[in-house]
Amino acid sequence: MTIGSDITGNQQTRRNGQGPATVHTIGDVVGKAIQRLGAAGVEQPRMDAWLLLAHLRSVDRATLLAHARDPFDENERLSFQALVDRRAAREPLAHIIGRREFWSLDLQITADVLCPRPDSECLVDAALHEIRQSTKGHQREWNGHILDLGVGSGCLLLALLSELPAAWGVGVDISQQALSVARSNGEMLGLGKQVSWLCCDWGSSLEGRFDLIVSNPPYITDREASDLAPEIRNFEPATALFAGEDGLDAYRALRSDLDRLLASRGRICLEIGHGQAAAVEALFFQAGFRSIRRQQDLAGVDRCLVLTRD
Ligand code: GLN
Repeated sequence: MTIGSDITGNQQTRRNGQGPATVHTIGDVVGKAIQRLGAAGVEQPRMDAWLLLAHLRSVDRATLLAHARDPFDENERLSFQALVDRRAAREPLAHIIGRREFWSLDLQITADVLCPRPDSECLVDAALHEIRQSTKGHQREWNGHILDLGVGSGCLLLALLSELPAAWGVGVDISQQALSVARSNGEMLGLGKQVSWLCCDWGSSLEGRFDLIVSNPPYITDREASDLAPEIRNFEPATALFAGEDGLDAYRALRSDLDRLLASRGRICLEIGHGQAAAVEALFFQAGFRSIRRQQDLAGVDRCLVLTRD
């Protein structure tokens, strides 16, 4: 069934004693929302319109699609319109519905954290690959310590802990608001006992050594700001996005903490921006690290560096 075929020709008429009145189906109303979002430049207007109504009704999208020919509940019209208005103003869908899936985990999202990107899953892949190798496939028994610097929603750390039940993690962020989102995601996923949360500037107030350090720091250059989609530029936290003139400020700031906090034979998985691999590797070579691997994202772009000191 295509949604497009549902949104036309489904209007029913009824007589209520005052002449015919049009009864709009769910498909009609969502169809109009799709047009509106498309005209506003939203990338996936169809998906988003259905997800907004699914959110409003607290049902899944498939259930709604199965009822596309049912009459639309007129009492919902204003509430649905308000959600569509927000999305048409290019507020991210994750902010409106308050959720986003990452690594098949359902995460709470607010405007205080970066919306997890599917591309960042390659960092989880890269880290798990390292742990599988070091444990000869017994990753569920790996009881190492993981540090996530700039943890945001907690997506990377919680995805890793969900795969590594014997591991323990520390999530650090400079934003208290971000940490409260991460903490609540940890609790919601039943991973609270495996993790501690700490508010500080990168690793500055941390001690000890970690077997795995992951980070998705800001890496967008200041001059790229105007190229970003309005969802990112106008709604996501700038501190999680921008890193100076060459986009490398955060890597420079992280280097000494990583050096101090990495255990021997430890691994670092760092997210990087498009075309930054060689420059970031060079920064870390200067600090005595070596790059083991570059991991590509869904578009085949180098998105993660795996670094070590050994
Ligand atoms: N990958 C994100 C984007 O392109 C940015 C995240 C970041 O700077 N770490 O919007």
